[in-house]
Amino acid sequence: MPKVRDDGTDFSDIGLMQTLRRRQSRSTADRTQIDYVLVLDRKRARLFRFTCDEMRQFFEQEFAVDFSQWKKKSLGHVTSERTETMRGSQRDAYEHRIEVQYRRFCDEVAKKIAGLCVDLNSSMLFLVGDKRLTSEVQEKMPAPFYDRVMLVPLDLAGLPAPELHQHLQHAILESREKCENDLVRRLLSDSQHTVIGIDETLAQIQKGRVRTILLTDNLHGDIRECPGCGLMSRSADPVCPDCRKQRRLLDLRAAILELARINKAGVHIVSGAASNQLDEAGGLGGWLRGRTQAQLR
Ligand SMILES: [Zn+2]
Repeated sequence: MPKVRDDGTDFSDIGLMQTLRRRQSRSTADRTQIDYVLVLDRKRARLFRFTCDEMRQFFEQEFAVDFSQWKKKSLGHVTSERTETMRGSQRDAYEHRIEVQYRRFCDEVAKKIAGLCVDLNSSMLFLVGDKRLTSEVQEKMPAPFYDRVMLVPLDLAGLPAPELHQHLQHAILESREKCENDLVRRLLSDSQHTVIGIDETLAQIQKGRVRTILLTDNLHGDIRECPGCGLMSRSADPVCPDCRKQRRLLDLRAAILELARINKAGVHIVSGAASNQLDEAGGLGGWLRGRTQAQLR
């Protein structure tokens, strides 16, 4: 459970402003949706960056059976070729040991993925392969990934990246759409643990009370930030009501993403048909950190 911070966030340095400027200048590049795809079989795990246009591999781990720790007494010198000639009990022991090692391999792969993808808001992770293998990795993923992982039960392990992309494009876009629809439906139907609407959500994010933010592709606009206390709001007031400093104008979307990063909130960006309903509610909402609306009042 993430620690809840009730004291608001200290934005007194001008670091946030500078970061936002840097991010705004990168905004064109940021618009490309990047997802992650892990293709898994009994031999290896390959991790790819996936966009609508291509897939690029950036991590690979081979599953190699480590025989060095096996006692010769019980199993003799085993190689995969020799399993054919093993007796029943011997083969069971062999397969059990392979299974244990494979589970360890899945554990390592899950940790690697978590390390490599940790900073990537709004991305989904698709685990492609036999469900018995992919669910092993899914179980080992840390909590922030729980609602970002989708299983794709296709055997495509032998394919090179361009063919993988061809095979997966449809499945991934469809899964993503389904996931976004689910998220919006869950957000809008849960009035107890959520906050909805631009101003309400912004206020709670700044207090560190939002665990996961949902925003739509269509959410745009400006926001004003006080350079003194760091308070942000959409009010047109040019001067901060608390410290009377001149407020400065920022891009709303970039400000939300930066606030999410600072407050360690997850972000899902929804687009297409899934965004319509959320757009009607302002295009922004989120799940609260273990609180209900009643407790916040
Ligand atoms: Zn102020």
